[in-house]
Amino acid sequence: MADIQFDGRVAIVTGAGVGLGRCHALGLAARGAKVVVNDLGVGRDGVGASSEAADSVVAEIKAAGGEAMAHGCDVSDEDGVRDMVAQAMDAWGRIDVVVNNAGILRDKTFAKMDMADFRKVVDVHLIGSANVCHACWPIMREQKYGRIVLTSSGSGLYGNFGQSNYGAAKAAMLGLMNVLHMEGARDNIRVNTLAPTAATRMTEDLLPPEAQELLAPETITPGLLYLVSDDGPSQVILGAGAGSFAETRVYETRGITLTGDDNTPEAVAAQFAQIRDPQNQEQLGDAFGQTKKYALSAAKASGLKLDW
Ligand code: NAD
Repeated sequence: MADIQFDGRVAIVTGAGVGLGRCHALGLAARGAKVVVNDLGVGRDGVGASSEAADSVVAEIKAAGGEAMAHGCDVSDEDGVRDMVAQAMDAWGRIDVVVNNAGILRDKTFAKMDMADFRKVVDVHLIGSANVCHACWPIMREQKYGRIVLTSSGSGLYGNFGQSNYGAAKAAMLGLMNVLHMEGARDNIRVNTLAPTAATRMTEDLLPPEAQELLAPETITPGLLYLVSDDGPSQVILGAGAGSFAETRVYETRGITLTGDDNTPEAVAAQFAQIRDPQNQEQLGDAFGQTKKYALSAAKASGLKLDW
């Protein structure tokens, strides 16, 4: 297997001042990428602003012989993101890799959630990722090359008590990935989602001390580097933590088809076990894959001919 290198590549890593983003930026730079170290320098809850963390990662990369620049924009601010992308283009003339990693938490049960906190978390994670992708998209299309990672979370994939805002924003990464994967494929733009679990300031009060050591952010970066490499995959949700890597997939069960007067709530209830039966479940290629499956099943059940 060839070494994974990023010589001649330009990468933007958001939220790269500390934690996972810092590791990803250092990992990309160590393998030859020129890196834009983006960080607004906020607290875990998104409050404050400082250039210190981003500047120190840039200094670390330069001290190791790499090339990097800091940019302190808020990813949820479209103009700031466009300025960051313009500065990267002025300095290095291309953008090959985008790692959307910036993130904050505003945990509260839904009953106590203030909608401003809900909106803020969606703004940083979802709108922030979309802003950076959108500003880089025409550049990647023109280059016929792009590698994008969105950062989801077990909270978005599986749920976590007290994180309705964060879980919703993190689940949205899947929707964004699926469509960007489809629209980017013809221009060699590949889009994946990382679902990390790491000991960072985001999780420091949740993990036992021994687990913190195992869950070092450095254990996740190799998976990220593969996802954004020349031969990396597309439309993959990669779980990563403590050296474990696993893929999450969305499947649909074969299901049932009810026709005419038999299509009643009672029939759905009676056959619910069969609706949920995982035998012969499949991954559907796109939204119309589902529409087609249902229409064909209905046609078959009613004895109609449907050429689709
Ligand atoms: P962290 O708090 O250590 O780092 C996040 C960084 O993002 C900080 O440097 C912060 O200043 C920056 N940031 C926040 N809002 C920003 C904004 N609007 N614009 C630019 N920068 C901003 O967090 P982390 O644990 O390293 O998490 C990194 C990513 O991984 C996040 O998206 C997080 O949701 C996700 N994640 C983390 C874990 C985990 O276990 N740590 C689990 C699942 C997902």
